[in-house]
Amino acid sequence: MLAVPVAALWLKADLLPGAGLAVTLKLFVVVALLGASALLCFHALTRRWLQSAARLQHFASALPAMETDIAEEGPPEIQGLARAMKAMAERVRHVVERANVELSRRETILACMAEGVLAVDTNLKVIFCNEAFAQAFSTRTPVMEGRSLYEIVREPQLRDILQRVVKTGTQEKDRFQLPSAAGRWFEARALPIGDQPKRGAVIVLHDVTDIERQEQVRKDFVADVSHELRTPLAAIRGYAETLLDGALEDRDNNRRFVEIILSHAIRLNNIASDLLVISELDSNAPPPIPPDRVPVLEVIESALHTVESGAALRGIQLVSADCVPCAVIGYRFRLEQALVNLLDNAVKFNRPGGTVTVECGPGGNSHVRVAVSDTGIGIPSEDIKRIFERFYRVDKARSRPAGGTGLGLPIVKEVVERMGGSVSVESQLGKGSKFTILLKEA
Ligand code: ADP
Repeated sequence: MLAVPVAALWLKADLLPGAGLAVTLKLFVVVALLGASALLCFHALTRRWLQSAARLQHFASALPAMETDIAEEGPPEIQGLARAMKAMAERVRHVVERANVELSRRETILACMAEGVLAVDTNLKVIFCNEAFAQAFSTRTPVMEGRSLYEIVREPQLRDILQRVVKTGTQEKDRFQLPSAAGRWFEARALPIGDQPKRGAVIVLHDVTDIERQEQVRKDFVADVSHELRTPLAAIRGYAETLLDGALEDRDNNRRFVEIILSHAIRLNNIASDLLVISELDSNAPPPIPPDRVPVLEVIESALHTVESGAALRGIQLVSADCVPCAVIGYRFRLEQALVNLLDNAVKFNRPGGTVTVECGPGGNSHVRVAVSDTGIGIPSEDIKRIFERFYRVDKARSRPAGGTGLGLPIVKEVVERMGGSVSVESQLGKGSKFTILLKEA
């Protein structure tokens, strides 16, 4: 600004006629000087702008890092921009922080879930796989992103359901057994990720092996009960019809037929009583009275008394040897029922003139041991692991006529386990068996 009056003063002296050349020269010098200074100013200004722009660029590209900051300097426009960018950076950091917290929260939830969770993209490549899913398929964790689904699960059911979900974008539900997960049963629920475009699918596997097993046990149980009831019912009906059809007057057979009906009716009664006990134990409902101190010797004597007549009929001797007074905590009537079942079997599966021995005393580790042994037919080793199953009999032809229901040992097991104890068996074919109960000492 100052240069213009200075130049005017400098030129004024030469504004005379005939000094045209000097004025032109001076004018040229003035214009050149003005141009050079304008260039210098422009350069300085541009540098400042460029430096400020570079600082803004550095700050923007470092987002959302907390360490970088930006000074509010330079031209006012740049200062305003810097302030706006600082505010924006604050908001971006806040959003990123919240997203990170949300992400780690979700990852923790997914990692803790008992259900297996797997997410795949549209090419069935793994996006995410939680610990439970990897464990179910014995896959090493962490499962890397991008791995093919087939490397983890080979079953077509799982692949098909995921493929369908990716294709149709609708959720699907199914229940299947997966051999590569040790044959366990799963309830699978698959959902698409994103609406349009589809980004893949996520599947949640809920292990329902136990539920499936229980359902199967229940179905088998109903089938077994029906089967067990059918034989005596058919026999009762058959003999009753025979009697009505004229056998009532048949003096040689009528009594025998009625006796057969009676024996089948007794069998039905036995089955009904055992089923009642089983359903009572299954219901998990505690007996109306609280558990009490049970003197084991008294229970043994009472149980022996119950089977006395049956043993006498078969000529079997009942011996209570090495019995030390002891007590357990539980229900007297249930323990007595378990012992009667064991003694009844020991008599039923004994040889004529054989012996049944009962022992009781300390079983170590604050336990009471009660053992029932016999000198009977014994149990084949391949059947031992199954005799506590409901309705399992080694020899049906032998058990049924003897009044057996196939529920005696399952009741023993349930009763003993509900009292916090255990039951085991040792047996030698043709020599005899020994059932041992261990119960917590009172
Ligand atoms: P059951 O009503 O047939 O006796 P249990 O559940 O009490 O049913 O016993 C199941 C099966 O186990 C019996 O049918 C029998 O084959 C076998 N068993 C049980 N106790 C003995 C025993 N002391 N000696 C030989 N076999 C036995």
